Amino acid sequence: MTNDLPPRRTFSVRARLLSVTGLAVVASVLIWHSQMADLLAFDSAADKQPVVAGGPGGSPPPQVPLKSTGVRKTPSETPTVSPKPKPKKTPTKTSKTTGTAGKSQYSEESIEGLSPKLRTRLTKAMTAAKAAGVPIRINSGRRSAAKQRRLFNEAIKRYGSYQAAIRWVLPPDKSAHVQGKAVDIAPQAAMVWLNKYGYRYGICRPYDNEPWHFEALTTPGKKCPPRKTSSAAELG
Ligand SMILES: [Zn+2]
Repeated sequence: MTNDLPPRRTFSVRARLLSVTGLAVVASVLIWHSQMADLLAFDSAADKQPVVAGGPGGSPPPQVPLKSTGVRKTPSETPTVSPKPKPKKTPTKTSKTTGTAGKSQYSEESIEGLSPKLRTRLTKAMTAAKAAGVPIRINSGRRSAAKQRRLFNEAIKRYGSYQAAIRWVLPPDKSAHVQGKAVDIAPQAAMVWLNKYGYRYGICRPYDNEPWHFEALTTPGKKCPPRKTSSAAELG
């Protein structure tokens, strides 16, 4: 009989311990989750953003049933076909290996690898945009030459010729992305915002056909230079 008490006590202590650690785990998971939810909400909102849509007067309510009749396209501004192959997100990120000199330690989808000038300016612009309710997401900032080469080769295949490809993707030695001097952003509202206010931070959209692509092309507060039709102009 006396044997009964001690084990029961240890059991209840253990149970209490378990529930305490359980609570701690649950709490930390909840905290982590809410942090991730922020990130994910941001991300998925961006992903759901229609490529072609949205009058500048206000973003369309998401629940409105889409009738194909009402959809308007402005071809020069918003090509329906996404011209760039979706970057596969895995390869560059897992560079935890022994950092060979110059090998990408940065994430392409961040400001990390950008030139100091563009990084500083973009950081300010992103803060202002966020405050205005228009978060800017970076789809592609600095790229390795190898990745740019791959994208360029894919573009040649996709568009059928070198001349057609350079309208969308430049070879590594010509690409501002490889130098960390360009960013591709999303969603569309962010493109519209940065196109309108980017000059305040010295950031401009250089090409008619790439509403997502921005570079530090002017003195902050000064007008942006006239846009070129496409990146092919860089090789002309
Ligand atoms: Zn770009």
